[in-house]
Amino acid sequence: MSSPGPQIVVIGGGIAGLASAYLTRELARERGVEIELTVLEANERHGGSTRTDHVDGYTCEWGPNGFLDNEPATLDLVKRVGLNDELVKADENSANRYIYHSGKMHLVPTKPPKFLVSDILPFSAKLRMAREFFIPAKTDDSDETVDNFGRRRLGKAFAELMLDPMVSGIFAGNTQELSLAAVFPKMVEMERDYGGLFRAMIAKQKEAKRSGKTAGGPGGPNAVLHTFRQGMGQLPDKLANLLGDALVTNAPVKTVARREDGRFQVVSEDRTFDADAVIVAAPSYAAATMIKEIDENVATALAAIQYAPVDVVCHGHPTDHLSDPLKGFGVLIPRREGVRSLGTLWSDAIFPGQAPDRHRLLRTIMGGAHDPQIKELETDKLHATAAADHAKVQGVIGEPSMKREFRFERGIAQYTVGHLDRVKTSETLENDLPGLYFTGASYRGVSINGCAKDAFRVASSLRERLAATVHSAA
Ligand SMILES: Cc1cc2nc3c(=O)[nH]c(=O)nc-3n(C[C@H](O)[C@H](O)[C@H](O)COP(=O)(O)OP(=O)(O)OC[C@H]3O[C@@H](n4cnc5c(N)ncnc54)[C@H](O)[C@@H]3O)c2cc1C
Repeated sequence: MSSPGPQIVVIGGGIAGLASAYLTRELARERGVEIELTVLEANERHGGSTRTDHVDGYTCEWGPNGFLDNEPATLDLVKRVGLNDELVKADENSANRYIYHSGKMHLVPTKPPKFLVSDILPFSAKLRMAREFFIPAKTDDSDETVDNFGRRRLGKAFAELMLDPMVSGIFAGNTQELSLAAVFPKMVEMERDYGGLFRAMIAKQKEAKRSGKTAGGPGGPNAVLHTFRQGMGQLPDKLANLLGDALVTNAPVKTVARREDGRFQVVSEDRTFDADAVIVAAPSYAAATMIKEIDENVATALAAIQYAPVDVVCHGHPTDHLSDPLKGFGVLIPRREGVRSLGTLWSDAIFPGQAPDRHRLLRTIMGGAHDPQIKELETDKLHATAAADHAKVQGVIGEPSMKREFRFERGIAQYTVGHLDRVKTSETLENDLPGLYFTGASYRGVSINGCAKDAFRVASSLRERLAATVHSAA
């Protein structure tokens, strides 16, 4: 009889936990190591915030509505699980994005020079933006807020009218709190390596011309949003299916302890699991409670990673409720416009087929770090507020024929100033206790791409560790 393989316990069955579990098993197999895997998920269902409801012909996404194709890890994962043929690309028209300003929706320029002719910013703000070329680079490497960087390099109007809604749209965050280095590391590099954003873009365009590639904007190479035929929930569903009995739901983990022999003990509500390695893929606030007994300092650092509440409101409308064709990605709303919604995605314009014929699907995001009181808003008032904002911003008339809401009390991790130090603290514990990993949207990227990339980091590290241990014991 062959001896049992190393026991690996993964905590959390969101996309991070499912991907880490699946990849750990597959990568270890490639080295000839069979592991005994258990994935413990607190809820009755897997997927965390990545989940899709199909309602009356509408595709309603709980959390993510897609992922960008500029992170090879996600595409690699999709291919490995056999979902390549299920991928759906965003419609080309969805490259058009809008910002609501002074009572109107304005097309957001896609290339930096076009900002200078766009009607969003006043002339004085454009002049200030153009001066970016001459603003000296920051000389120290201290962390700063996104807002500080925006004001320093591109001016107050740009920071308030462009940066703030963009950050709300991605992180549901507050630019005056988020760390530039944690959320936009490329901007830090551009200033440090080239002296500024315009200088970096010019240099990158020259480099691209020489190599025959496209340079992309300040956010990196141009990327296309993707989903799956049945929505984003298809990815966790497929992973859960491949994991089979290894995935245990209704199993909230209470503590992770270290045994004297160096192994770990994971205590769930009614069972205890011994493990050679533990991947903590539950959000940082849950991880903090679990590991208190192992290291109180790390638990404190993890508990300091804040989450913002986020509400998603999906409204379906017959096409004749719309006075504007709403062709594009959607509209973002700067906080200073006095509208409660952070923005609305035109889901069926991005992914045709996500609404029934002659109907439209508006997906509005509310709450975020600017508006934590959203948690107290009753559900009918949430829908009424979204509807009023749809009427004001997008000219939508009439009652929605389909309404759904997905409310996340702790929706998106806020990488505030000092975040990278908190992540480093967690890495110190990973180094001190080999076999313990922290992964997921709390740490190195709030997106699906961030989770997939980090799942590969964990699985590759474990593969090396397991291969070394198992082969040296053989
Ligand atoms: C409204 C919204 C919109 C978003 N839009 C996008 C987008 O368009 N594109 C994109 O790339 N990303 C988007 N994101 C981010 C994306 O959803 C996350 O990157 C991703 O879902 C995080 O996955 P995760 O596994 O780290 O966390 P989660 O999805 O939160 O999963 C964590 C899991 O751990 C479980 N858990 C918690 N405590 C315990 C415990 N004690 N024991 C066991 N299990 C536990 C939870 O039940 C949960 O299932 C969005 C997020 C939200 C909320």
